[in-house]
Amino acid sequence: MSAFVTQREFVPGELFLLKLGEVVLKGLNRKRFEDKLLGNVRRRLRPIGNFAVSVRQSTIYVEPQDEDCDLEAAFTACRQIFGVVAVAQAMPCPKSVEAIAEAAGSYLSGELTAARSFKVESKRADKSFPLTSIQISQEVGGLLADSYPHLKVDLHRPDLVVYVEIRERAAYVHAPSVPGAGGLPVGTGGTAVSLLSGGIDSPVSSWMMARRGAELEMLHFVSPPYTSPQAREKVIQLARELTAWTGRLRVHIVPFTEIQEEIRRQCPEEYFTLIMRRFMMRIAQRAARKVGAHALVTGESLGQVASQTMLALGVTEDVTSLPVLRPLIGMDKVEIIRLSREIGTYETSILPYEDCCTVFTPRHPCTRPRVEDVREAEAALDVEALIEKALAGVETVTVRYDPAGSLD
Ligand code: ATP
Ligand code: MG
Repeated sequence: MSAFVTQREFVPGELFLLKLGEVVLKGLNRKRFEDKLLGNVRRRLRPIGNFAVSVRQSTIYVEPQDEDCDLEAAFTACRQIFGVVAVAQAMPCPKSVEAIAEAAGSYLSGELTAARSFKVESKRADKSFPLTSIQISQEVGGLLADSYPHLKVDLHRPDLVVYVEIRERAAYVHAPSVPGAGGLPVGTGGTAVSLLSGGIDSPVSSWMMARRGAELEMLHFVSPPYTSPQAREKVIQLARELTAWTGRLRVHIVPFTEIQEEIRRQCPEEYFTLIMRRFMMRIAQRAARKVGAHALVTGESLGQVASQTMLALGVTEDVTSLPVLRPLIGMDKVEIIRLSREIGTYETSILPYEDCCTVFTPRHPCTRPRVEDVREAEAALDVEALIEKALAGVETVTVRYDPAGSLD
């Protein structure tokens, strides 16, 4: 998670400012997006401590309400909330030029010492404050230049921008902001069923769709005794790791053994994987109907394996009328791995447990399948009965975000 670690220390009295991204482009829907995001921030911070969360002018204010709020954990959590493009630590101070300069001088002493040039940028939300924002910047800048004589004022390309905001209750001095997760608030993009395996790809595809605001219901197929309890536990752990970004997730675990055994018994070997994937899609579609989801998500990437050629993808989605979202479709494996490391699922993904996909792999899978041939190949199966039986055996596990990282 190196890309999401902050360098700055946390000090008592600080608060966080969360900058909203695409949410601000939403026009008439903006209120709905903002409300969703506020709810997501509050829910995520609740287990970490008592924080007041409010929104004003495209910025969410996160203010600790007592001494034992874990600021570091809260900051990390804020950076993982979709819809937030940047997060800054900030210090409140009294509303006078002298107090602001003093607060900035000590709060940002590390940055001011390291920089060679700076400028002050001010915003005056409290219009009763006697100085204009330009005057505030000039005066605070002058006082800071007096205390840090090595610093030059550079209005065009400064090393450091000192942000000052004057609001109703106080003035605030910001530290430089760091990137947030971006995207749109989870819950604003509809609900989708995401097919989660224990591999590297599907946690990443899930994360990418959650980042576009999709609420996810996870679906995982198990084939005991061919797949082990550890393989199942690994997938639940992957979902748990995703909750740092998505919030609470449900993992629906579907028994798949009988379907796979029937396919092996009755269908031509070259179509094993394709027919199995068609069953996954059919079951995912039924599950979607049950939970009110309107799309399926997979970690497929064009050409990665025989079942992900263009023709094979067509054969797979032949059995569903829902949109199949494949955010990794045009990505290389190295890019997927990089993302998987960044979002924190890679180490779990590479644990060496088997997946039901690898249980009955054909020696020579068909890479140029025709949908009529595959339909014919599976005609020997009682598709409906097999699906019903699998659905009747679904078990649902709920995983929650746990800032301490411990297992449920
Ligand atoms: P890998 O990183 O090993 O490629 P993968 O998850 O992509 O892992 P594939 O065999 O390529 O594995 O499967 C393609 C997609 O099918 C997955 O990304 C996932 O969405 C879905 N899938 C595969 N196996 C399962 C499973 N056991 N349960 C749920 N979905 C699965
Ligand atoms: Mg894959």
